[in-house]
Amino acid sequence: MDLGIKGRKAIVCAASKGLGKGCAQALAAEGVELVINARGADALEATAGELRAKHGVKVTAVACDVTTAEGRAKLLAACPDPDILVNNAGGPPPGDFREWDEKAWHAAVEANMIAPIMLIRATVDAMIARRFGRIVNITSAAVKNPIPFLGLSNGARAGLTGFVAGLSRQIARHNVTINALLPGPFETDRLRATLAAGSKSSGKSVEEVADERRKANPAGRFGTAEEFGAACAFLCGAQAGYIVGQNIVLDGGAFNGTM
Ligand code: NAP
Repeated sequence: MDLGIKGRKAIVCAASKGLGKGCAQALAAEGVELVINARGADALEATAGELRAKHGVKVTAVACDVTTAEGRAKLLAACPDPDILVNNAGGPPPGDFREWDEKAWHAAVEANMIAPIMLIRATVDAMIARRFGRIVNITSAAVKNPIPFLGLSNGARAGLTGFVAGLSRQIARHNVTINALLPGPFETDRLRATLAAGSKSSGKSVEEVADERRKANPAGRFGTAEEFGAACAFLCGAQAGYIVGQNIVLDGGAFNGTM
């Protein structure tokens, strides 16, 4: 299926690895011109080189922290008028809420709520003027199905979700959409770190912990970044203009609900 976005311009945040990289790959395969970002320049340059070589599209790598105003300014200077914006950043640390002071909460809200909202604010009016825009926020299945030890994530991402629920309906008539993808367990560095922590606390091997988690999932496995990227690219496609303000869970069926 041709998604009808060849030659469009996209900013994909936090995209040197994992889910962001999966999204960048899928958009590059559609012929989208990319500005990708991460803090670590080496992995970012390697990913940019990979995407250019494989898909022959223009890829600009901007090494910066997307959770800071300076980082976002660098990103927007490289691509002031994206047609597509994929918001992403690292997730907040796990823990017990009694351990988190005000500073920890501000950091989580800054990274997983304010940063995407500021990028939306900076780009959405030009999308409206051009009558095309696709914004995808990578959040978490925890928005729908809270994870007890990820309270910072549950809270901060729910704030973004609430804001977008309103805004997406105000701009949909201009063919500008905002939706969220809610990942469950996907095989990335972030998941591998969680499995290593689970191994440490349980005394089981990492492979044992991973096997238990795979078996507990209705799909019997973890998701892949490629699958995630394909869903993102579809939401960014010309045909997806009637998908508005949705929170799409990609978790192999782990959330046990009728709807
Ligand atoms: P990952 O494999 O660890 O990759 C994270 C990517 O984001 C890397 O490219 C990293 O590069 C970049 N990054 C992190 N912080 C950044 C920042 N402040 N500014 C710019 N780039 C930044 O993680 P992932 O699994 O793809 O997760 C992506 C998001 O989905 C996270 O918010 C995570 O919490 C959420 N999520 C993931 C899962 C899962 O199972 N994988 C499940 C639920 C939610 P640098 O470190 O070099 O900056």
